Amino acid sequence: MSDSLKEYKEKRDFGETPEPEGEITGRRSFIFVVQKHAARNLHYDLRLESGGVLKSWAVPKGPSMDPKVKRLAVPTEDHPMAYHDFEGVIPQGHYGAGTVIVWDSGTYRNLKGDEVSLGENLEEGHATVWLEGEKLRGGFAILRTGGGKKPRWLFFKMKDEEAMPGTDILVERPESVKTGRSLEEVAEQEKPTDMKDFS
Ligand code: MN
Repeated sequence: MSDSLKEYKEKRDFGETPEPEGEITGRRSFIFVVQKHAARNLHYDLRLESGGVLKSWAVPKGPSMDPKVKRLAVPTEDHPMAYHDFEGVIPQGHYGAGTVIVWDSGTYRNLKGDEVSLGENLEEGHATVWLEGEKLRGGFAILRTGGGKKPRWLFFKMKDEEAMPGTDILVERPESVKTGRSLEEVAEQEKPTDMKDFS
């Protein structure tokens, strides 16, 4: 990484001057979220902040902390940043109708380097990130497999000290990290009022 403060620092003796030594600042961690979505089919939506939006994939079988388990991830449309903490019920008859919980959330770092754009990695079809979630932690890879009109990706845990071989995090930790609620509790508590009256 080039040090654009090099000249500034070389000109000063910070033991003698009251001026700040300073450092290059920039965002090194970004938002990620995995939402559990009971739509027509239960699935998990992986979203990674990139370029001011949430790049998104539907992961039908959900994430795993076991490096042996590689999960299919199907790209979906970019979502706005504000979606990262959405939890509630999408009404019947609307796109994605069903219940959504914030299954995991936190920050990620790009394992290819702080100065590397995840967006470029995704264009190339190969990204590795370090997740700091409440459930998902450590290195994860997301790789495009094949191209064509309907590209498919694989999302999986990399081998590192955070890996948990032989475990099923989906079973161990089914709840929302935002409210602690289950999908069923959110469905019951958040359902549209016009449905409450008649159920
Ligand atoms: Mn979804």
